[in-house]
Amino acid sequence: MRNSADYVVIGAGIIGCAITYYLIREGFTVCLLERAGFCAGSSSSTHTQVAIHNRFPGWDLVLSFKSIEILKNLSCIYDFEYEATGSLLLIESPNKLKWIEKTRKEQISAGIKSYFLTRGDLNREEPYLNRSINSAVFYPQSIRINSMLLCHALITDARRSGADVNLYTNVLDIVIKKQEIEKVKTSNGDVYTHNVINSAGAWSGNIGRMLGINIPIDLNKGQVVITEKLPELGIKMKSELQFKDEKRSSSGVNNKIKFWEKKDVRFTVSQTLHGNCLIGRIGENTNNLLDRSTSFLAIQEIISRAVMFMPILKDVKFIRTFAGFRPYSIDRKPLLGTSNKIKGFVVATGHGDRGIGWISTSKLLVDYLVGRKSFISINPFLFNRIEI
Ligand SMILES: Cc1cc2nc3c(=O)[nH]c(=O)nc-3n(C[C@H](O)[C@H](O)[C@H](O)COP(=O)(O)OP(=O)(O)OC[C@H]3O[C@@H](n4cnc5c(N)ncnc54)[C@H](O)[C@@H]3O)c2cc1C
Repeated sequence: MRNSADYVVIGAGIIGCAITYYLIREGFTVCLLERAGFCAGSSSSTHTQVAIHNRFPGWDLVLSFKSIEILKNLSCIYDFEYEATGSLLLIESPNKLKWIEKTRKEQISAGIKSYFLTRGDLNREEPYLNRSINSAVFYPQSIRINSMLLCHALITDARRSGADVNLYTNVLDIVIKKQEIEKVKTSNGDVYTHNVINSAGAWSGNIGRMLGINIPIDLNKGQVVITEKLPELGIKMKSELQFKDEKRSSSGVNNKIKFWEKKDVRFTVSQTLHGNCLIGRIGENTNNLLDRSTSFLAIQEIISRAVMFMPILKDVKFIRTFAGFRPYSIDRKPLLGTSNKIKGFVVATGHGDRGIGWISTSKLLVDYLVGRKSFISINPFLFNRIEI
């Protein structure tokens, strides 16, 4: 490990790897520190989607379109299973049609392409879907990737360009001298630097505490079920349209209704290049950063909801389950930029359920650090908006 660097980046998830990739291109010396293997945090637990069907006009869409552009360009050099799959938004009942009509008009005006499919179209084109689903909208701009391979590609590239990547290196403390960062203490020794980038995702609050800086992160635990390899089940990414306040149980059993009300369960499937289907989704607010276990009840609920939408899934083998954290900021916008309190302390976190979809924030942050105009203003995302 080098003992000094222009920038120390903490966390080798999607965001830390992408920031390292961009910083090294600017000619800085960069030391990336990760306490476990690369992509050991939330970035290894994704549904692998950048789904445009749940984007609306505004900054979220700008970040997402830029991210797709970045990923597409990168996929010409590295293989991380980039696929322009498109996504299908399933409309289970006719009472949602008015909402989708209005929403599509707004989306189209912002450059989102979509095609309406009737029940007849679905029955013809999507033989594995429940035949009673009313209709669907196809969003051709949605893509999917393998987030672990993406991190690997970014790290490989950054390493080749001179980045010092240190896995199994836990950041223990950050030392300050005269309100300025002096060095980072790690389990493998110290690195002298004046600039630290905190891209520790769900754990970024812990890094902030080392400097007495409060970084409020709302944690939402998600769980995913993986099937055996299957033949292509139609459009590879499908999700149900569900309004936030809708509460239903697939089983109708009372104790499950209670469980359902506490958690947000929505059908989504993403089929990989190899045929495995990643099925979700479930979300549960938590404060427990230590518990990444999956639970029987959650997995059962995910599967029963999935079977409602795709009956064929009741006959397949589920080979693995995993859980991860969605690190949300309190206003759901990413937290980017320098702290007002400690010179050189930079935050890049709060990507919630959109780490892949908002990978473009890494480019935005590096443009800000070098004083360059970027594809969108960083102002709405600046960390100091919430720093007291
Ligand atoms: C179930 C689920 C499904 C999701 N699906 C999608 C999806 O389809 N599309 C999408 O865009 N997003 C999705 N997300 C969200 C996405 O996973 C996150 O937004 C993203 O991974 C956050 O990336 P990150 O780099 O900020 O954090 P992480 O990937 O968590 O990286 C932070 C890293 O910091 C390291 N670290 C922590 N403390 C220290 C320390 N003291 N020293 C050194 N290293 C440290 C950790 O080990 C970790 O590797 C999903 C999330 C979940 C949970």
